[in-house]
Amino acid sequence: MRLVILPGDGIGPEISASAVSVLELLNRKLKLDLTLETHEVGLEPLKRVGTTFPPSVLDACRSADGIVLGPISHAVYPTRAEGGINVSGELRIQLDLYANIRPSRSRQGIPHWGRTPMDLVIVRENTEGFYSDRNMYWGVGEFMPTADVALSIRKVTSRGSRRIAVAAFELARTRRRKMTAVHKANVIKVSDGLFLGEVRKVAADYSDVEYDEQLVDSMAALLVREAAKYDVIVTTNMFGDILSDEAAELSGSLGLGESINAGESHCMAQAQHGSAPDIAGQDRANPSSLILSVGHLLDWMARKRMNESLAQGGRLIERAVDEVLKDPARRTADLGGSLGTKAFTAAICEQMESDAAK
Ligand code: NAD
Repeated sequence: MRLVILPGDGIGPEISASAVSVLELLNRKLKLDLTLETHEVGLEPLKRVGTTFPPSVLDACRSADGIVLGPISHAVYPTRAEGGINVSGELRIQLDLYANIRPSRSRQGIPHWGRTPMDLVIVRENTEGFYSDRNMYWGVGEFMPTADVALSIRKVTSRGSRRIAVAAFELARTRRRKMTAVHKANVIKVSDGLFLGEVRKVAADYSDVEYDEQLVDSMAALLVREAAKYDVIVTTNMFGDILSDEAAELSGSLGLGESINAGESHCMAQAQHGSAPDIAGQDRANPSSLILSVGHLLDWMARKRMNESLAQGGRLIERAVDEVLKDPARRTADLGGSLGTKAFTAAICEQMESDAAK
């Protein structure tokens, strides 16, 4: 099986090196038969070959069994015409990675910043919504008819809404069987109304899952007040992006926010956070989010291939992160600890070695 690693920008190379160390260890211990193949994306290839995302790298991703994408500094990329392709958005569209699955749970010993502990998953539609750069067949969905007026197109489709709802309900069936649809259909009546209507139709097929709805603005407050109440949350692209960063921070730190981007045939592990240019190159980044995302990717691959060794790899990662983080002396700075990225990665690998031997 081939895994493509795209380290990205900012802290991307540092936390991707951590993810690679973890994968190499699992490969050795569990005989996973993974081949890791690293390709450059982002500001480096922009300098060298004039694009942040060379077409050969997209081809490598298309034919891979899994992808690990480090964060990218797309806020400073030039326009697409000048070579600045948003690698993350492009992969989501090109490989139809429509489901962005973002779990957040509080972990033993780490303070959660919400008023209650939490264990929830935000299922975010990933291919349409307010993200106007990826909403059009041709061209960009943002434009300025005059110098002082800017317009942006939001796209919501029945198909996109239905398939994200099905993914979320299927996930809820493997958890506590509670689903909350988050929307703003009281104001954005047409597009969020379409989304909500499709989710309700899907809900009718899952009578074994308790279903309710919440407006996105009050949801932001309710996550702080009573996150324990929520299990699976399904929502559109931008609402999911924002609420999942909030949930990750409430659970302890944005540095714990993991995710996969999944379609029918491809899956990509990706940290929720960005490229953190303020701490890049200083060995200060918490690699947990990308490491946990890799565990989630292995779990997705295990289900597709009915491969127990891959599933075991996913479980070992999850357990090692929990165990290491229990100890305040083995945390990174964002969690009040003093370990650097490399030392924290070594602690995770040591923990996995000892768990795998049990
Ligand atoms: P950010 O997530 O990079 O950083 C926000 C804050 O969290 C910063 O203080 C940063 O130091 C901290 N932080 C983030 N990840 C951390 C980690 N693993 N360990 C410790 N601290 C961490 O958000 P931003 O500053 O708004 O964006 C920076 C760049 O990242 C921009 O170019 C933006 O476009 C890009 N971005 C990329 C992605 C992605 O690749 N998926 C997502 C969001 C933002």
